[in-house]
Amino acid sequence: MTTLRRIIRHTMRFPLMSLLSLILAVSCTSLVLVLPSVTMCFIDVIIPQQQHDQILPTALLGILAIAGRQLLFTLRTYCNNMLEMRITHLIRVELYDQLQRLPVKWFDSRSSGEIMTRVADDVPTMDRVVIDGIDQALAALLQFLIVLGYLFYHSWPLALVTLVPLPFIGLLTSWWSRRSESKWKASSEASSALHALLHDNLAGIRQIKAYTMEAEALEQFDEASRKVGEAHRDVMKGQAIVWPSVSLMAESGIILMVAFGAWWTIEGKLTAGVVMSFLVAWGFLFDPISRINALAQTFTRGVVAAKRVFAIIDTPNETHLTEGKRPAEFHGAVRFENVGFSYSSESPAVHDICLRADPGQTIALVGPTGAGKSTILNLLTRFYDPAEGTIWIDDTPITELSKEWLRDHTGFVTQENFLFNSSLRENLRIAKSDASDEEIWQALDAAHASSFVRALPAGLDTIAGERGVRFSGGEKQRLSIARALLKNPPLLLLDEATSALDNQTERLVQQALERLRSERTCFVIAHRLSTVQQADRIYVMKDGRIAEQGTHAELLQQQGIYAHLAEQSLQ
Ligand code: ADP
Repeated sequence: MTTLRRIIRHTMRFPLMSLLSLILAVSCTSLVLVLPSVTMCFIDVIIPQQQHDQILPTALLGILAIAGRQLLFTLRTYCNNMLEMRITHLIRVELYDQLQRLPVKWFDSRSSGEIMTRVADDVPTMDRVVIDGIDQALAALLQFLIVLGYLFYHSWPLALVTLVPLPFIGLLTSWWSRRSESKWKASSEASSALHALLHDNLAGIRQIKAYTMEAEALEQFDEASRKVGEAHRDVMKGQAIVWPSVSLMAESGIILMVAFGAWWTIEGKLTAGVVMSFLVAWGFLFDPISRINALAQTFTRGVVAAKRVFAIIDTPNETHLTEGKRPAEFHGAVRFENVGFSYSSESPAVHDICLRADPGQTIALVGPTGAGKSTILNLLTRFYDPAEGTIWIDDTPITELSKEWLRDHTGFVTQENFLFNSSLRENLRIAKSDASDEEIWQALDAAHASSFVRALPAGLDTIAGERGVRFSGGEKQRLSIARALLKNPPLLLLDEATSALDNQTERLVQQALERLRSERTCFVIAHRLSTVQQADRIYVMKDGRIAEQGTHAELLQQQGIYAHLAEQSLQ
């Protein structure tokens, strides 16, 4: 009920349109009695009194009223669809806005296919509740009451007979509605899983081909698709039994009604016209009931979808980007004080981290994979907040700073050099929205990326293609370094920034980065020790802790992990 109330509240954001939709539904429905009334008039008045001259006007009047009803129906359909479109848009944007505010941690445990299903499928499904659900249910209820009033007005005993199947139908449909909720849930979860798998397999199509995993992938897809079918079949199986049962009860009601009608007509208690008009009106009485089955289904599906959408909307989000302090200057002093963090409840990714970088210094993080180096950078961008300890930026705890301010002053070159599906110019301008072409070329020059960009026929207008597939790993890395250079931030984070480059290019990019590093605080993660030798301080990480620290020369003297790594890398 609360979910439904929330959906209705969304509808109320367009009060005029909702009201118009309701008025149209009422007026359209109230013309439902034209057909039975005209029929009764023909049989009970025009035929016995042989009023030839009344046949045409009565027929024309009937047709006119029916045309009016259909016209109203057209307006109602249009109005409802407009309303649905607007509500869908509103909720979709609200959901997307919320997705962008959710912490990175939330995304860690969900596949993008699953999230895409929420935005693309669940929002329209929940909005069908508004149109097919609320609007039609109201119209159906109204139609039912109007026709019922008509029947009781003309013959209450026959009206009572007509209603005999009703309680049975009500019981059956409400039982089914309750039972089918879990089935619809299973069905939509299976669809989500299928979408997620499809999304993953398309994203990893190269790996699938490279490892000739087509057969396994097909098998997985076949399995997921079968599950969707099975879940849907479960729902359909129920429908296949419930729906004909409803029809059986309803249609038996006609026989009952005609039989009693005939009996009472013979006894002179009723006219044939009344029985005929009951027969015509019966369709209008049971039409809403027959629709209830479909409506209950729409409701159930819609509510299941809405619960999933609202679950995302209700997830506590990050503090707003702009909330927090925005100091006038960013000097670039960074200090970690006993910082600890874990991605899940299991073992911490980093613990007891103490490190410092003075403004302008370069800090290198080295150590084996999984030691927690990237986690340190993730904490510095506030993708995650530390569970223990404090990170200080220029004497302010990082959690008190505005995320927007922090990220505006930070350049992050990651291992995944993501390019958006837009032009190179737009991809680079992410770093600085008002950058001129000249500035962009300067950044590209500094990152040694200008030669290959110049060689492209469309230059900066080249579309980077979905996920930047048009460029090699090394090219994407240089573009991403150029992006960071363009931003010219006081804090630079380089996560294996030059790993995808060949030796010669790496040397050139290193020179550019060195120039860049000299003017700002810089955290560098690198496997190749040659790239970190010049760092002011090197922290060697192991199992989430800082195992050694010092300059290159000091660490070599310590004869510990670093000296061992240096030995290996020189071999
Ligand atoms: P490094 O950069 O040194 O290779 P990371 O900081 O990436 O190490 O990882 C440290 C630990 O945290 C590893 O055990 C890794 O498996 C885990 N980890 C990293 N990212 C996530 C994540 N998003 N969710 C869960 N665990 C993670």
